[in-house]
Amino acid sequence: MTLYYADPFVLPLPPGHRFPMAKYARLRERLAATDAFRADEFRVPRAADDAAILRAHDADYLARVTGGTLSPGEVRRIGFPWSAALVERSRRSAGATVAAARDALIQGWSANLAGGTHHAFRDRGEGFCVFNDAAIAARAMQAEAGIARVAVIDCDVHQGNGTAAILRGDESVFTFSIHGARNFPFAKEASDLDIELPDGTGDEEYLRHLERGVDEALERSRPQLAIYLAGADPHEGDRLGRLKLTKAGLERRDEWVFGRLRLRGIPVAIAMAGGYGHDIDDTVSIHAATILAARRVLG
Ligand SMILES: [Zn+2]
Repeated sequence: MTLYYADPFVLPLPPGHRFPMAKYARLRERLAATDAFRADEFRVPRAADDAAILRAHDADYLARVTGGTLSPGEVRRIGFPWSAALVERSRRSAGATVAAARDALIQGWSANLAGGTHHAFRDRGEGFCVFNDAAIAARAMQAEAGIARVAVIDCDVHQGNGTAAILRGDESVFTFSIHGARNFPFAKEASDLDIELPDGTGDEEYLRHLERGVDEALERSRPQLAIYLAGADPHEGDRLGRLKLTKAGLERRDEWVFGRLRLRGIPVAIAMAGGYGHDIDDTVSIHAATILAARRVLG
């Protein structure tokens, strides 16, 4: 089994920046401290190259990102200051989801201990997302592994708006997003299947909608690969989420999704997506629980 991490590629943030960059190294350390994985199962991914990125993004946008010529408005929308380190970090994070998808096709599952950058559009980034790793990975596997159909199962509390927009009209990649109706992004895109939940939704109601949505998504798409965005931000202790899932509820979510994919024999690449806990330790433990659930359920 392989877990890809990009936390050595830190992007410099001003003091007090609200993005919890520290969660990634802590997640890897947390998992390494269990006996669920060997040291050699943690790997640094290769950076996604231009050819891979251009399957999901415009050449002009890629050139502006790599050349540092994004407008101030574009930088503000992303939410991170531009630096060469931001470019490298974004390439590595996308490369990690590509590598996880590749390994999943061989081993059944694999994970990116970051990624899930679903607010990145073809021609712009937003919401801490520069490149759309799920769209890049889906198309990479179609290009290099002969995969015809992919499903993106996005359980981050925010809608996968960039993923929906990039893949709109592409019948070979099914996009499913279950998210808070009143969360960012406030103007939603149309995924192939969206489920919007009211503020304060708890475990039982969430799981009922999730099960219906995942089954419909898998039935309609018959995927040969799933990309699962296991956002930690539906948690009741999240600063940006508006839902009220408990840690136990999130663990049931992950176990149910993995069980369903196993039942249907669908390999899965997992990405972490968002998590902005009032206590960063909550976010780290939810992300870690996702990976440990995959280990238990998927082997
Ligand atoms: Zn999110």
